[in-house]
Amino acid sequence: MKTLSFRGGIHPPTFKEKTQEQPIRSFPQPEKVYLPLLQHTGAPLEPLVKKGDKVKRGQKVADVHAFVAAPLHASIAGTVAGQQDYPHPVRGTFSCLVIENDGTNEEEKAEPIQENEIESKEPGFFRDWIREGGMVGLGGAAFPTHVKVTPPEGKTIDTLILNGAECEPYLTSDHRVMVERSKLVVLGARILCRACGAKKILIGIENNKPESIAAMREAVSVVPGEWEIRSLPAKYPQGSEKHLILSLLGRAVPPGGLPLDVGVVVSNVQTAAYIGRMAQTGLPLVDRVLTLTGDCLVSPANLEVPLGVRLMELVEFCGGLSSEPRKIIMGGPMTGIAQVTMEIPVIKGTSGFVLTCDLYEKHEYPCIRCGRCVTTCPMHLVPSDLAKFSEFRDFDQARDWYALDCIECGICAYGCPSGIPLTQHIKYAKAEIIRRSRKGGK
Ligand code: SF4
Ligand code: SF4
Repeated sequence: MKTLSFRGGIHPPTFKEKTQEQPIRSFPQPEKVYLPLLQHTGAPLEPLVKKGDKVKRGQKVADVHAFVAAPLHASIAGTVAGQQDYPHPVRGTFSCLVIENDGTNEEEKAEPIQENEIESKEPGFFRDWIREGGMVGLGGAAFPTHVKVTPPEGKTIDTLILNGAECEPYLTSDHRVMVERSKLVVLGARILCRACGAKKILIGIENNKPESIAAMREAVSVVPGEWEIRSLPAKYPQGSEKHLILSLLGRAVPPGGLPLDVGVVVSNVQTAAYIGRMAQTGLPLVDRVLTLTGDCLVSPANLEVPLGVRLMELVEFCGGLSSEPRKIIMGGPMTGIAQVTMEIPVIKGTSGFVLTCDLYEKHEYPCIRCGRCVTTCPMHLVPSDLAKFSEFRDFDQARDWYALDCIECGICAYGCPSGIPLTQHIKYAKAEIIRRSRKGGK
């Protein structure tokens, strides 16, 4: 099938050359980890351990009776030092379990899954197994994976798409995972496929990552099933689920809809790799690969890090700062979240950190009606007007103009010559619309 494109989008400088050739380095087992009780989209967790308890790496330490949630596991072996409020990269502060390393490196693991068992196990087995492993989307959204692979009654999934686009500037962790761990990506994809019932697996990778494309082609050539690796034009936001599905399958997810409405599950390649690792070793999600980069760092790098390690420790491990950062962002500069402290811990959704002296800094001026935000919006919205509705608190109008379809890609704000924080205004409107609809009022 022909690869399509989509209207809108941009080609920002990628800055990936800083780390794209850097092999993944393992961060050593830290002295202490800070594990927030919310690291996924969904219900916060409740601790299963208390101060003074001994825990093994891989032991479940928090969970909740809710479908949209993923349990949390100790990322080091040690003693629970307590539970306290601590800086959180998304929530400002949040309750954390603090674990101090006891140097034993003891691990608690599930039974590995043999490759020849995959087809004989039921989808329900893998959905439970994925949940127990604490798996979430590692592209940044951290949506629980077992929820994604459970189609509601009456819906059928025919295609699993692995998202290897990594279109955000600066980030190269998914690229390195595809290059160095392609077999684990493929193993995880086979399990995801079995869990959601898909018959076909499509892997979409931007054409500025030829090494990833070659590694994945080689890895899929020796496994059973219907696989296709597709090279996509490098264009932001190619990695947005809706745009990936449109580019690869020509299917448009309806407004307010989800990929499963068009028979598709989309998973990030790194998520698949950690599912593959759990199948091989039994170890749940206790580490992740991230990119530490930016012009303030001595040695930008791709690192595999236990969850709960603090940014300040990562920076020190990579040789420290070459200059004082003026902006710290978790994720990439387009969709990432600005941070105010280097004490923040790595959570499941931490795809990277960008530390920079100067990043798209602008002064704000009145709108000059140039229309740039409208022509580049990949969701065909009118960001200038949506931002105005938000500013004037006219949330009914914002809803009627499809504010909820905004994918928060950041393109409108990035390109606005007047420096208006359009995405920020629209995000606020979305949050208000959702809050009011939950309350049943206006
Ligand atoms: S942030 Fe929303 S409104 Fe702005 S360009 Fe992206 S999708 Fe369009
Ligand atoms: S890009 Fe900025 S200045 Fe141009 S129309 Fe949109 S909001 Fe106005």
